[in-house]
Amino acid sequence: MYYPKQFNLGDIVETKKEHPCGSKQWEVIRVGADFKIRCMGCSRIVMLPRPKFEKSVKKVIKSAEIIENEQ
Ligand SMILES: [Zn+2]
Repeated sequence: MYYPKQFNLGDIVETKKEHPCGSKQWEVIRVGADFKIRCMGCSRIVMLPRPKFEKSVKKVIKSAEIIENEQ
């Protein structure tokens, strides 16, 4: 079973490949069918479809999610 990952505005994620500027960290600035992320190194904004975004993310560094019920 496939569980889609949840991403929230303001999340900081690390990608598998680094940006040409050398940074691997991105801030999520738009979620939906298309994602927009801003490079933490050079502030460049990239838009990409969700499946591609999910594939390129290695991990979430900092989640902007406030509180999730854990039960
Ligand atoms: Zn960059």
